Amino acid sequence: MPRTTSARALLDVQRAAFLASGPDPDAVRQARLQRVIDLLVEHHEALCRAMEADFGGRSPVFSLMNDVLGSLASLKHARDHLPQWTPREPRPAMAPFDAFGAGAWVQYQPKGVVGIIGTWNAPLYTLLSPLASVLAAGNRAVLKPSELTPRTAEVLAQAVVAFFEPQELAVVTGGADVGADFAAQPWDHLVFTGSTAVGRLVMQAAAANLVPVTLELGGKSPVLVGRDADIAGVAERIAVGKSTNGGQLCVAPDVVWVHASQAEALVSALDTAWRTLFPTIAGNADVVPVINERHFARVESYIADAAARGAQIRMAGGWPDARGAAERRMPLRVVIDPPADSLIMQHEIFGPALVLRTYQAFEDALAAVAAGPRPLALYWFGSDADEQEQVLQRTLSGGVSLGDVCMHPAVEDAPFGGVGTSGMGRYHGREGFLEFSHARTVYQAGAQDPRRGFGMLPPYSDAFAQM
Ligand code: NAD
Repeated sequence: MPRTTSARALLDVQRAAFLASGPDPDAVRQARLQRVIDLLVEHHEALCRAMEADFGGRSPVFSLMNDVLGSLASLKHARDHLPQWTPREPRPAMAPFDAFGAGAWVQYQPKGVVGIIGTWNAPLYTLLSPLASVLAAGNRAVLKPSELTPRTAEVLAQAVVAFFEPQELAVVTGGADVGADFAAQPWDHLVFTGSTAVGRLVMQAAAANLVPVTLELGGKSPVLVGRDADIAGVAERIAVGKSTNGGQLCVAPDVVWVHASQAEALVSALDTAWRTLFPTIAGNADVVPVINERHFARVESYIADAAARGAQIRMAGGWPDARGAAERRMPLRVVIDPPADSLIMQHEIFGPALVLRTYQAFEDALAAVAAGPRPLALYWFGSDADEQEQVLQRTLSGGVSLGDVCMHPAVEDAPFGGVGTSGMGRYHGREGFLEFSHARTVYQAGAQDPRRGFGMLPPYSDAFAQM
């Protein structure tokens, strides 16, 4: 079949195939997941080279770890666990019908055809990790990669054509206009990973067709550093998480809350940790460049705005230089206590900068985080068990890592998703399977209908009241 490029045409082809085949058994779903695994294994070098080119120098080793192995982990987990997820679940039928042989169960059925829109920062992972849950639930899928990583999108599209018939899995490429058209289709479910602003548009478009959505959005993920935290250790973990993908990570630490007396020590420890990871910045292939000039200028404008409003700007990993800037590779800028209305406090940073907010009482920091928009991730460092419990009880976020950053999305057996402005719905694990399944209740009548005998049918009698 020739490669079809319109979202609507692919949706129609897949829906017709879905209706014709009915829900596919576990073995067919596992074989599909295996084919995506095979596709990634066969094409991983070309995909990593494409990501290197799209980012202007992202290390292929990093792309292998982040996008290829990250996606493989989700796909393999779904392949191996779906037989535990798919069986129908018996449920007790209601009295008095249960006593007369009635039964009930919940049956998890595929919804049908799922559209998946991805981002540039993890151009494979944001498509293929949700796809693992989507395929495990027995659906067919159409993928829409980001236009900011066009080479990766093209290699993926060609690989999918080589491994799949379009009625099972397909790719549509293009920019925001294609995205808007994609979101306007009557999918059986729509997964969107991207910014909160575009997420609102996607949800509006989906609402017109009453299409259920999974929205994997961003936000300003906070780090709460407790009074008794080991500052050098905190700095090492933050440096590793914040430098991952050049800070262009949906769960990247964005605002760090630290006791005022420890702020200086934290900045200094971040500098040490950053220099250990990146002895040089310019020309260092381990430093992931900011994706393009527009995003580079965006991050720079946040720093300039904060500086103009009196915030202190500190460096970790050396001072920025012209060569690094030309490559869009920068050390970490630490912005201390910027005013609440500054750009860097109003927007997700999504780049190599970090806000440090100082507190006098941990309670105040906790209250401020709890009162703010609900983030995708929240991090806490410390050793006080009561403080940890307070953090977990009083805040709400998509997920949490304790004593580290950015780690909870890697737990394949547990849901990954946001809450509030950081999104809704989830993928990974059994919860991901449930997200893309319809939980259908089936009631099976018993041999006898007890309603007449119990006075439950007109003409009503006293028999029911005397039961
Ligand atoms: P974006 O919102 O600009 O674009 C995401 C996708 O939406 C792209 O494929 C784009 O073509 C498409 N799109 C653009 N306009 C559209 C429209 N009107 N209708 C439908 N689709 C449209 O996001 P981005 O810059 O690619 O990614 C960065 C954002 O994504 C950050 O906010 C980050 O936190 C978030 N993110 C979230 C997760 C997560 O799992 N929660 C993962 C990665 C990135």
